[in-house]
Amino acid sequence: MAPGKTALRSILALGRLARLFCGGASMSAVVIANWKMNGALTGIELFAQQWQGFDVPHDVQAVICPPFVYLDALRRLMPKTVQLGAQDCSAHADGAYTGDIAADMLVELGCDWVILGHSERRVYQGEDDALIAAKAVQAQTAGLSAVVCVGEHLEQRQSGEHQAVVAAQLAGSLSGVTPENLVIAYEPVWAIGTGQSATPAQAQAMHRWIRSCLVQHFGAASEQIAVIYGGSVKPETAAELFDCDTIDGALVGGASLEAKSFGEIVLAAASGR
Ligand code: PEP
Repeated sequence: MAPGKTALRSILALGRLARLFCGGASMSAVVIANWKMNGALTGIELFAQQWQGFDVPHDVQAVICPPFVYLDALRRLMPKTVQLGAQDCSAHADGAYTGDIAADMLVELGCDWVILGHSERRVYQGEDDALIAAKAVQAQTAGLSAVVCVGEHLEQRQSGEHQAVVAAQLAGSLSGVTPENLVIAYEPVWAIGTGQSATPAQAQAMHRWIRSCLVQHFGAASEQIAVIYGGSVKPETAAELFDCDTIDGALVGGASLEAKSFGEIVLAAASGR
């Protein structure tokens, strides 16, 4: 789905204008905590205590994605202003799929979001684009917002393949997926958990590329899709990333495990900070 036509430029320019004057003004930033396989019940109680009194800005959607088994505790202990998400869902609606969790079950537990195709699942669970697309279709059918992750490995960036890699991931992972209830998370694999975030310039360039791929795929409807950045986002680096006009939010791993640092990143995403 790599865009190549010059006509794309005018669609992109129109899209930018629309985001600036219409959609851009109303699209809230999306800041998602990915707790991965971390935490314990006692830790969630502490997190909720430390979160007390914190107001999520009106133009930010703050989401926490804990391990499945802590979803219920988080729903009970955290205020409703913090939304709930999961880190994966099944590619099937129901049936004999031992160990899988269906998207409908996540909705029953109070989830509105699900992260799909995280690089750790692509690498350790061997998930491919077709499987991620099937999961995203299930998620959207159940009413969840699908957060589809893409991103290149270090060697792919060093060899100049990063744009082609991400375009191919998007083409494969978005097959059958609708632009409604869809977020794309750009997460360069070399930046995840390394403390080495992409520079704002690197992130901007890739977000522009992703936006052009989305226009190619969905046309004008792609305007409603938030493109967020993930990879060693910290309270100290969040503001300069959010200052980039192509970055609509963040997917945060390590820095989301503590209420204070996650809260600081959520605040940094507010337009009137
Ligand atoms: C992630 O797990 O999606 C992530 C971005 O992790 P970290 O913020 O720790 O790099």
